[in-house]
Amino acid sequence: MNKPNSPQGTVSRRTLISTVCAAAPAILVAAAAGSASAQATRKLAQRAVAYQPTPRGDQQCSNCTLFEAPSGCRSVAGTVAPEGWCRIYVRARTPASAPAN
Ligand code: SF4
Repeated sequence: MNKPNSPQGTVSRRTLISTVCAAAPAILVAAAAGSASAQATRKLAQRAVAYQPTPRGDQQCSNCTLFEAPSGCRSVAGTVAPEGWCRIYVRARTPASAPAN
């Protein structure tokens, strides 16, 4: 497959560039999949954060900044209930009240 003017055992610049360009999409997809996988594994186990499916006082997933409706959490793996709670609860900011007239 060598070009007539290419020395035996060498790859032409054109062949190298076309091979790299052809492989680039596959490399990007693999990198993205690896990144998503790594992100998924970075979540904490429910057991590690003492997750419970019930609120703790007025603290519950639905008013935690890490909650992802309808039943997810940015930091804790698995399904979480809006009424759940765990040790890394972070109260979501409430909108600033409107100035008095
Ligand atoms: S209380 Fe815990 S499990 Fe619930 S949303 Fe917040 S961080 Fe996630």
